[in-house]
Amino acid sequence: DSVIGILGGGQLGRMLSVAASRLGYRCHIFEPAANPPAAHVAETVTNAPYDDAAALADFAACVDVITYEFENIPTSALDLLESRRPIRPGREALRVSQDRLTEKTFLNDLGLQTAPFADIPDLASLREALDRIGTPAILKTRRFGYDGKGQVRIDADTDPAAALSELADAPAILEGFVSFSHEISVIAARGLSGDVACFDPGENVHRDGILRTTTVPARLSSAQRTDAILIASRILEAMDYVGVMGVELFVTPRGLVVNEIAPRVHNSGHWTQQGCTVDQFEQHIRAIAGWPLGDGRRHADVVMENLIGHDLDRLPDLARQPDTAIHLYGKAEARPGRKMGHINRVIRPTP
Ligand code: ATP
Ligand code: MG
Ligand code: MG
Repeated sequence: DSVIGILGGGQLGRMLSVAASRLGYRCHIFEPAANPPAAHVAETVTNAPYDDAAALADFAACVDVITYEFENIPTSALDLLESRRPIRPGREALRVSQDRLTEKTFLNDLGLQTAPFADIPDLASLREALDRIGTPAILKTRRFGYDGKGQVRIDADTDPAAALSELADAPAILEGFVSFSHEISVIAARGLSGDVACFDPGENVHRDGILRTTTVPARLSSAQRTDAILIASRILEAMDYVGVMGVELFVTPRGLVVNEIAPRVHNSGHWTQQGCTVDQFEQHIRAIAGWPLGDGRRHADVVMENLIGHDLDRLPDLARQPDTAIHLYGKAEARPGRKMGHINRVIRPTP
């Protein structure tokens, strides 16, 4: 196993490549877009669409194991790749997490709390679901949403037909609004031999649907912290999962409610780069390459802040701050809402 294939060349693929190369691996990125962030650090990049069977076959032939930085890989591409090389995390994790309806059903079947939800194939089912679930509620596309895209909030005075047409007839799900005190996430890892290690839960603040900051430690009682880790572990076990996963949770008076899962390294786990001996990227590479999991215990308090769009103008100032580690993704153009980098502010060492 000396070449790691990564589907997706964004910042997550880039930071996975850096971690893999530190462990002595070479990386081969498969990415349809030209000049992706990971291209600057990976050894090889294939620029081809996911329906290019020949390019996929060549890619598979060049690598020993395949992983990915995003969950929306087309099924046909996965079928082709899987017949040639192991894909880690495996197909079950992708099947479940590619669709919010499958995901929430899977979580409920495990006995975990989610927002109340309903499949919305048409306007009649939306009206029916609103009668049952009530408002406020959130109408979301079942697939392809990220950074809060593909979501419409529905209040008592919202016209359901207008809300549905905002999603342009994409298959949708209605979720009841969870009234949470705050949001946390657990970055969890499971190795090839079934060992599980979770990073300390982080507390997440979103703005305009996009993650702004993750702070560790999160505000949690020790019972809540244990609960969060047990929930994440149960999800990993149920999927026979290999790799790192992000589990987003709402903290409510009635316990922890699972928002969504991401079968990959996660933006809310970037703090581990300065907070742990082994960060989420190395942990993921260790897991998929069959190494024992590393030491993910937290040794500092950290605030991770995303640098979005023109936040990058603050760089000269940030570069002068002594406790701040800067991570930039090498993206040429700073557009509003685009993640350009992040900083990890190390608050104080934990004695
Ligand atoms: P990500 O970039 O994390 O993948 P996403 O586009 O998949 O985001 P969600 O995580 O579903 O979107 O929602 C984004 C944010 O919107 C959540 O972190 C939360 O703050 C709020 N939110 C989403 N669903 C609900 C809900 N059912 N009740 C209350 N708040 C919600
Ligand atoms: Mg999501
Ligand atoms: Mg989310």
